[in-house]
Amino acid sequence: MKVVIIGGVAGGATAAARIRRLDEHAQIVVFERSGFVSYANCGLPYYVGGVIERQDDLTLQTPESFWRRFRINVHVRHEVTSIDAAAKCVTVRDLNSGRVFQESYDKLLLSTGAKPIQPPIPGIDSDRVFSLRTIEDAVHLRQFMTTKRPRRAVLVGGGFIGLEMAENLMAEGVEVTIVQNAKQLMNTLDIDMASLVHTHLRQKGVTLLLETEVVGFETIQDSVRVLFKNRAPLMADMVLVAVGVCSDSSLAKTAGLRLGVRNSVVVNERMETSVPDIYAVGDAVEICHAVSGQKTVIALAGPANKQGRIAADNICGGNSHYRGALGSSIIQVFDLTVASTGLNEKTARQADIDFDRVVLSPASHASYYPGAKVMTMKVIFEKKTLRILGAQIIGEEGVDKRLDVIATAMGAGIQADALKNLDLSYAPPYSSAKDPVNMAGFVIDNLATARVKQFHWDEVDALPRDGSVTLLDARTPGEYAMGHVEGFINIPVDELRERLGEIDRTKPVYVMCQSGLRSYVASRILTQEGFDCFNFSGGYRFYAAVTREVVGAIQAHPCGMEKH
Ligand code: FAD
Repeated sequence: MKVVIIGGVAGGATAAARIRRLDEHAQIVVFERSGFVSYANCGLPYYVGGVIERQDDLTLQTPESFWRRFRINVHVRHEVTSIDAAAKCVTVRDLNSGRVFQESYDKLLLSTGAKPIQPPIPGIDSDRVFSLRTIEDAVHLRQFMTTKRPRRAVLVGGGFIGLEMAENLMAEGVEVTIVQNAKQLMNTLDIDMASLVHTHLRQKGVTLLLETEVVGFETIQDSVRVLFKNRAPLMADMVLVAVGVCSDSSLAKTAGLRLGVRNSVVVNERMETSVPDIYAVGDAVEICHAVSGQKTVIALAGPANKQGRIAADNICGGNSHYRGALGSSIIQVFDLTVASTGLNEKTARQADIDFDRVVLSPASHASYYPGAKVMTMKVIFEKKTLRILGAQIIGEEGVDKRLDVIATAMGAGIQADALKNLDLSYAPPYSSAKDPVNMAGFVIDNLATARVKQFHWDEVDALPRDGSVTLLDARTPGEYAMGHVEGFINIPVDELRERLGEIDRTKPVYVMCQSGLRSYVASRILTQEGFDCFNFSGGYRFYAAVTREVVGAIQAHPCGMEKH
């Protein structure tokens, strides 16, 4: 059997090695357009920023090491320019010599990845406007950094690459402005959680221009003038455009393979395309979202690697299936870890699922043990079935573990209230006897069993202030004095039993505290005393962080001033 693989990085390299492990006699040929095989594109921002010092550390394999270990023929700087599915051969151009030749195959695998979206902005082809996808891009950027020593960078796009580059450029002493046309960064998050990221970035000195559209770049000597639709231009020494990626499916299209969502390659669970003996994996393919069941594209390394293994199994006569992805992702944003899995509120709504959510502020480990950090955890679940739909967690410590536990629970079909039963490890430096994941389960269980009703940050402003409901803040007078929501009266939870007479029993009571814990206790007291009571999800801490940022961002939206 002769297998030809197009694209030799995440999906392609994984598949090549797996095919060899399954079939010692297969002839395996990999064509890779860039100059490198099996490189760590996830590490590129850290190479640009100098955290990863040596370019060699980004390349896990070389054509020579692939040959030595696996007897796989890897041809870098070789581009496949067309596929003849009827004749079962591909046309290849050697980018060094210009030679064009044909290579036959019995089985063909496409792992051509994705391309950075290049919006049609005038001036985007300037040599000071960069994108980041390959080692070559990273080397080019690093060289620019070391030789030109830029002081001001504008990053267009507030997704993973934009944020990782912001941190790495700041570490190099560069002043960073992130421009995003939406009103929030990171579309994997909901606006409330994203607002925590906005605040942190601003605290770290990053300038955020949200709801701002770039309409042009003008190169003026050693600078770029960035032009916006609704505000005055900014001068920068460099610009990075990272506004997302699109499946690199041009080869597939010309070969007549069926295309689906956003021009991605349609595959079945065996990673077979619509044309016999042609498989496809990774950023280029359409997959099924594991929660919504909808067709989608998820451009992440984990799915690409798993799909590469599955395609290899099937190429070698096996019967492996890819059941879809949750889109679990994680990123470091300065001191924060930001992680999410599954659906967020926006995508749950798009999938027409009736959901609810809980927001908690648990400590990363026992609060009596030094160094505990508060994290913000949001879990979204289907109201009727209590199926976990997704989670978003932001904090300084212990975020990755909680997110992965929830993602695992989702994969295993564990219900949201059953998170309370997970038997997780505990010692004071690592967690609490009730782990944050258990705590989410407790809160959801209380809602599901109607012991508690809740209200959310985006409902607070609409609560009547005409005396028809009681708005109650259960924190201490000191905390209340430091800041509270207008219209809320203060009765500390510890005094509540004695002061019940101050609250009208005929009216609903909405209770808030700092994190949601004391207001939960207050809610239970009030509910058992016959009040119709609602507990505030996330606490004043979350409310203040979210509303200050969301409202503040709009009010502080800078207009009409030239920055540098
Ligand atoms: P790729 O790994 O991109 O490989 C595709 C290869 O195909 C390319 O090298 C390309 O040169 C080659 N190719 C395309 N067309 C042809 C052709 N016609 N002929 C020959 N070769 C061709 N994901 C995460 O999960 N976590 C992260 O932290 C993360 N960070 C990232 C940071 C950066 C800067 C980038 C760019 C990506 C990051 N990703 C991350 C995404 C992750 O790298 C991709 O999802 C993954 O590499 C996709 O694998 P793939 O095999 O589909 O494509």
